[in-house]
Amino acid sequence: MFMGHYGPAVWDTQRGKGTPLVTLWQGFLAVQAIDIVWAFLVIAGIEGQVIREGVPIFHIPYSHSLLGSAFIALCAGGMFRVLKPSGGNRGFWVIAGLVMSHWVLDLIVHRPDLSLYPGGDLLLGFAVWDYPWAAYGLEMGLVFAGFWFWKRVTIPKSMRYSIALWALFLFMAMLQAAFILVPGLQLQAGTFDPAAGPQGALLGLSALMTFALLAGVIGWIESGRPSRYGANPA
Ligand SMILES: [Zn+2]
Repeated sequence: MFMGHYGPAVWDTQRGKGTPLVTLWQGFLAVQAIDIVWAFLVIAGIEGQVIREGVPIFHIPYSHSLLGSAFIALCAGGMFRVLKPSGGNRGFWVIAGLVMSHWVLDLIVHRPDLSLYPGGDLLLGFAVWDYPWAAYGLEMGLVFAGFWFWKRVTIPKSMRYSIALWALFLFMAMLQAAFILVPGLQLQAGTFDPAAGPQGALLGLSALMTFALLAGVIGWIESGRPSRYGANPA
């Protein structure tokens, strides 16, 4: 899954009730933490894309095995606990939960390439990507639901921050479409050729830049959309 991961990023035990434990830009990084690790491993040449028995899948034994993902979730939660002690133990679990949402959503769309532990023979994935436009609807539906919810629990300081939110949605919808339409990236359509798309350092760096860009943009929008339920509700 690509953009759909950002749907659950709005989840926080406090959002819609009080001041969220995790800001949305931090949530944006948490839901992609597994892919951030993946990007570094791709740059290092340890993980990547492969064709196995004619099916394009990822070779992701470390970042995307259930055990590896759980390890990343605990590390990310621990990092958050240290950097933002005010979030307390709840902040730890919210971050860990956001990180693990990535694995669950990948399980739905990936073709079988998710193992339980590095090197495990059993590869899981329900392969919704074999139905590219259904997958597209699912991914963008998740983002839409997340943005819609967030729109309702925040108050824009000016119109700009409302327009920007939906402009970002359209931009993400375009990025998602690229995974179906652009030759070399046609992963969802099941016709991609790892040799024709970006790979290695280029693939890893472009992924990292996309994650940073989206977190940065949502952070800016967030600066103009404070929670409706602040620490001292009026
Ligand atoms: Zn992933």
